[in-house]
Amino acid sequence: MPVVLVAIDVPLSTLFDYLLGVDLVAEVGQRVLVPFGRKQVIGIVMELAESSELATERIKSVVQVLDGVPPLPAELLTLLRFCSDYYHYPLGMTVMSALPARLRAQEPIMIRQEINFGLTAAGRALDLATLPKRRVIQHRILQALHTNALSGIQIRTLSASAPANLKVMIEQGWVESTTIPPPAAAAHTFNVVHTPTAAQQQAIEAVTQTQGYRCFLLHGITGSGKTEVYVHLMNHALQQGKQVLLLVPEINLTPQLENYFRSRFPDAELVSLHSGMSDSERVGKWLRAQSGQARIVLGTRLAVFTPLPKLGLILVDEEHDSSFKQQDGLRYSARDVAISRANQRSVPIVLGSATPSLESYYNAQNGRYQLLKLTQRAAEQAQLPQVRCINTSNIPLQEGLSPAMLAALAERLQRKEQSLIFINRRGYAPVLMCTACGWLSGCPDCAGKLVLHLKDRRLRCHHCGHQERVPHACPSCGNTDLQPVGIGTQRVEEALQTHFPDARILRVDRDSTRNKGSWLKMRQQIQDDAVDILVGTQILAKGHDFPNLTLVGVLNPDGALYSADFRASEKLFAQLAQVAGRAGRADKPGEVLLQTAFPDHPIFRALRAHDYDAWAQVLLTEREQAGFPPYVFQVLLRAEGKQENEVYTFLKCAREAAVKLSNSVEVYGVVAATMAKRANHFRAQLLVQSATRKDLQQFLRAWRPLLEGLPAQKLRWSLDIDPLDF
Ligand SMILES: [Zn+2]
Ligand SMILES: [Zn+2]
Repeated sequence: MPVVLVAIDVPLSTLFDYLLGVDLVAEVGQRVLVPFGRKQVIGIVMELAESSELATERIKSVVQVLDGVPPLPAELLTLLRFCSDYYHYPLGMTVMSALPARLRAQEPIMIRQEINFGLTAAGRALDLATLPKRRVIQHRILQALHTNALSGIQIRTLSASAPANLKVMIEQGWVESTTIPPPAAAAHTFNVVHTPTAAQQQAIEAVTQTQGYRCFLLHGITGSGKTEVYVHLMNHALQQGKQVLLLVPEINLTPQLENYFRSRFPDAELVSLHSGMSDSERVGKWLRAQSGQARIVLGTRLAVFTPLPKLGLILVDEEHDSSFKQQDGLRYSARDVAISRANQRSVPIVLGSATPSLESYYNAQNGRYQLLKLTQRAAEQAQLPQVRCINTSNIPLQEGLSPAMLAALAERLQRKEQSLIFINRRGYAPVLMCTACGWLSGCPDCAGKLVLHLKDRRLRCHHCGHQERVPHACPSCGNTDLQPVGIGTQRVEEALQTHFPDARILRVDRDSTRNKGSWLKMRQQIQDDAVDILVGTQILAKGHDFPNLTLVGVLNPDGALYSADFRASEKLFAQLAQVAGRAGRADKPGEVLLQTAFPDHPIFRALRAHDYDAWAQVLLTEREQAGFPPYVFQVLLRAEGKQENEVYTFLKCAREAAVKLSNSVEVYGVVAATMAKRANHFRAQLLVQSATRKDLQQFLRAWRPLLEGLPAQKLRWSLDIDPLDF
């Protein structure tokens, strides 16, 4: 009897054999319902075989072949096998974690049949001149339907109010549903808004003239028009009948971006995939992509696994952004997986950033990637902002604000221009302190501190979610004089409101944008000029255009300069360059003021000179000397558990095994994690690195089975390949 090898969502590295009954037919990539233990679970057929090595009586049979949706394409299964191998994560769990939740569930999937619409005889006979001109959308729909039938999705791309208008026209008897399919969209409309600049044109041509796989790094300063390059590249791919995958960081995916691409390609079907959508919405869009009908797929990291039969181009915007790295389960980098996928499919991939990751920059320098540069702002009048440092080492600050910063804010208020104060800490103050005994508000379950949120008088842990009322007296000595230490967004907001009582101040951080739609509303307020001063965290740093914003003030960036995390200063530069890029995007010159006690630090010199390359060179030299990535490849073994000694014993045994195994890797000591305790779990880690990926992978193949053999019932451990956070 034929056998299928099935991937199942269990932490074992193997596939499972099942017999395929005579009445069943299955293909590779198909979903099947199989018995596993006492349950029945969904699995994916990865291979077909004539027979099994196991004795027939030991093999169970497939219960049902689920053929409601087409099987996963072989190309996707190959990619998932690669991810499982590279990230050393069980194949079944890798496959299942890439699928939309609905494809992992047993309930049948109802795919809404796409309804097509055409004109009735009455609609055809209708004289458009008699239809009032103000019914713009109805005119548009009727004109479009005159040529051919359209699907509901195609009609929706005509206008946001198209569905409502369509309903009216059906009631009028002009439009009806039809079985005539719309013609396959061979040609598509491309709205040319700008003529590309010479630099943009060069970048576009470099990519479009490429045959097969090539990885490009598009390094363009903020405002240089990277998006315009993307749009032209997308156009090129769409014209050839191909699909385009555009990956964006989690925080950037807004309806704004979606609408923008829709406006440029009004009749190409676009689907977006991100964490904020329902399971059924997600599976619907996934299947549109798999059928080839969705031509543009816009999504966050998980979208890298969308099946795309006609894939012709991959774009990764803000490629340096750490949200492309999944931090639990299958710890993959969507950017790196995208590069592998482009290679596997022989298509070009473009990584875009104003501040590339050092890994990508290094690869562009050594010729592995091709560097494309945009060094000018695209709008002719737009100047780069002037960046200055305010030396805070010898001046008194008022709630974190220097006199020079307050003066610059006053000037903007007078000129009726907007300002942004950037501080990367939400809450009122990072910690509460007793002035008598020095007690600090620590989290009972973590190694971190409880952050003071004065708005609702609570102390909150930003790591585990623990919260409590602000105590009236010190829990340690009873003293009632408790003082907030340090500054957060709420404190700055309050101080500014006291200093500028008439100013309209808006705080934008994770607390103020928690409710759905609140950030959209706030952005509208900013664009409508109903805000004078913005106080916010990194939410404000990314990709938003506020034409009346001319001043960006940065408070207290120094913490990252001497951090134990070797990537902290790389991230800081990216963040500051990005937030600085918000200033002066239109015809008004912008100014950026950085409050720092170390104005001579190379990072601030590079920011003042807008010189990413100089800064990257400083970092690369440092990393090479210290033997850090991109000069080495790393794996981090993390373990956590309620018993501290168990965690350390496990890691020490893991270390001994590693040392015995290989001399082509460097094995560090067992150390506590940066956050040594979180949510009542002790956390520690072991770093192993190697000069080549190949050696590291070879080592991991031998090491992982040994780890699996170590006693670890009461703790959790994981391997993080190419870790970003320590
Ligand atoms: Zn005290
Ligand atoms: Zn905590």
